[in-house]
Amino acid sequence: MADALLLGGSAERRGGSSPPTRTERDRGCRPRLASNAMTRVVVTGGAGFLGSHLCEQLLEDGCEVIALDNFLTGTPANVEHLMEHDGFRLIKADVTEYVHVPGPVDQVLHFASPASPIDYLLLPIETMKVGSIGTLHALGLAKEKGARFLLASTSETYGDPQVHPQPEEYWGHVNPVGPRGVYDEAKRFAEALTMAYRRTHDVDTAIVRIFNTHGPRMRPNDGRAIPAFASQALTGQPITVAGDGSQTRSIIYVDDLIAGILKLLRSDLAGPVNIGNPHETSVLHLAETIKRLTKSDSEIVFIDRPTDDPTVRQPDITLARTELGWEPMVGFEAGLERTIEWFRSHPEVG
Ligand code: NAD
Repeated sequence: MADALLLGGSAERRGGSSPPTRTERDRGCRPRLASNAMTRVVVTGGAGFLGSHLCEQLLEDGCEVIALDNFLTGTPANVEHLMEHDGFRLIKADVTEYVHVPGPVDQVLHFASPASPIDYLLLPIETMKVGSIGTLHALGLAKEKGARFLLASTSETYGDPQVHPQPEEYWGHVNPVGPRGVYDEAKRFAEALTMAYRRTHDVDTAIVRIFNTHGPRMRPNDGRAIPAFASQALTGQPITVAGDGSQTRSIIYVDDLIAGILKLLRSDLAGPVNIGNPHETSVLHLAETIKRLTKSDSEIVFIDRPTDDPTVRQPDITLARTELGWEPMVGFEAGLERTIEWFRSHPEVG
C-alpha cells in the first residue's frame, strides 16, 4: 500500500491464515471455542467521530478491528486510547485510491466521508469521490472476502422532507444542484451501488440511515448545532441559532446509535434502516436547553439559515424496533449533559 502507515497492534497478527468461508464465521465477536478465531472487522473512516466509537465498541465485544482513514476530517487522536489494544490496527489509507487488507475479513463498515455541513461544503469533490469510488472499493473488499458490508448512509437522503416523520420507504426531496447536493447525492449513489452489489454479486449488505448524532469527540467548529451551541455556551460566546430556530431536529446520543448499528450489522437485514431518536425538538429549544444545562450567560442570536437546510427531521424507527428489537435508551437532556461534559473537560478542542 503506497502511503500506508500501520499503527497499533502486534506485528504477528497483521498477517493471517487462509480465509475461512463466510458460513464458518460467527457474526458476534467473542472467540469461538472451536477455533479461537475472532471476527475481523474493517472500519473505513475509523478515526472519525462515529468510526472511533464503533472501533471502541467492536474491540469491547472481542472483535479484531482494522481502521482505514486518511485523516481528512478525522484524527489519530480519536483512537489514540485504542492503540495499545492487541486487536486494533489503524492504517492511513485513502479509500478512493484503493482498499487492500491482507487476510480474512468478516465485516466491512464503510463510514469514511466528510459528514458535517462545513466539511462537505469545503470538500465537495472529496465527498462525492468517497461516496462513489470509496464505496465501490469498500464493496469490492467485502465481495473479495465474502464479508458482510454495512454502509453508513444518512437522514440527508430524505433531503428537506415532505413526509413527516420519515419512514424508510420515503424516497426523499433532495436538491441535486444545491450546495448540500454533494453529500446527499453521494450517499444516495452509495445506497444504489450497495444494492447493485447485493443484487449482482450476492454481497451480504446492510444500509443504515443515521440521524443527527452527538457525543464525545465531535469538533466544536464542525458546523453542527450541538457542538457549536455547547462550545459557545461554555466559552461565553453568543449562541448562534440559524433562522428563527423553529426548524426541527431529532438528536441521538452516540452510544444509542452504535448499539443500533451493531444490531443491524449482526442481523440479516438489508435495510435501509433508520437509526435515530424520534424525540423531535426545535433548534431554538435545543439552544435554550444547552444554555440552561451549561448555566451560561451567553445570549442567543439569530443568523441566516443555510441553503436547503431541512425544515423538519424525525425518524420513523418502527423497522428498527420491530426487526432489531432496538430503540434509544438515553434521554434528550441526559445525552446533552454527557456531550456538554465532554466539551467542558476538553477545553483544548475549542
Ligand atoms: P467524521 O468526519 O468525524 O468521520 C469521517 C471519517 O472518514 C474521518 O475520520 C475522515 O478522515 C475519514 N475519511 C474521509 N474521506 C476518506 C477517504 N477518502 N479515505 C479514508 N478515510 C476518509 O464524520 P462522522 O460524523 O464520524 O460520520 C461518519 C459517517 O457517518 C459518515 O459516512 C457520515 O456520512 C455518516 N453519518 C454521520 C452522521 C452524524 O450525525 N455524525 C449522520 C448521518 C450519517
